Amino acid sequence: MASPIHENQELCSYLIKKITSTVPLQILTSKISGSGLFTTQDIPAGEEIFVSTPLVNTVEDGKHGSVCDYCFATSNGRVHPAGHFRKEGDEMPDVKVCVGCKAVGYCSKVCMAVFMVWWWNADDRFDGKECQRKAWKAYHKFECKIFKERPTLRSSAKALYRLLNEYEQELLSAEHWQGLSMLKSHELEHLTSENFETIVVFSTHAKEVTGTKLNIGEVVALYCRVCRIN
Ligand SMILES: [Zn+2]
Ligand SMILES: [Zn+2]
Repeated sequence: MASPIHENQELCSYLIKKITSTVPLQILTSKISGSGLFTTQDIPAGEEIFVSTPLVNTVEDGKHGSVCDYCFATSNGRVHPAGHFRKEGDEMPDVKVCVGCKAVGYCSKVCMAVFMVWWWNADDRFDGKECQRKAWKAYHKFECKIFKERPTLRSSAKALYRLLNEYEQELLSAEHWQGLSMLKSHELEHLTSENFETIVVFSTHAKEVTGTKLNIGEVVALYCRVCRIN
């Protein structure tokens, strides 16, 4: 079994350097479970602690027609992408599904106008395809065809395919991959549950279509590690 991540402090400091934080952070052994993220400084109530980019994210099952797969702006949520509660008359993002796979959606220029508010002619410059363009370049070009064949894939499986493609394309740093591999897989619990068949079916298909060099056992462990099966 892999040793807990807090035993590799060199790796921990690499990962912590990748996030933006207002307080000093450390990964240490946790009394609650395995490894935990700690700070040595008191944090005032309401203070933002850290901001980081997730290694992988997918939109909840069934929401791909209303939530942008790249920035998570939503066309019918209670919160406007600018951060305030939705008011009458607010223009909300118009999430449109990818014409290639119809399995993910991307927002319109409302979201881009918010994020690019400093850009005086944001509306002219961004035609609503910005999130789609960024997602395509980052990962969707590797998965669009795969999702087209299985447009009803659950979000946990999409995350697995996305991670495997990023691994194969060497888009993940060796340290991030190492950190991911050190997370507990809870494989035994998953494989003895009623989810066993789902896990094996998705993992086998994912190995086949992504052409990953990982063996099936490693793909299963990755799925168990990053994806909530229930
Ligand atoms: Zn978006
Ligand atoms: Zn697509």
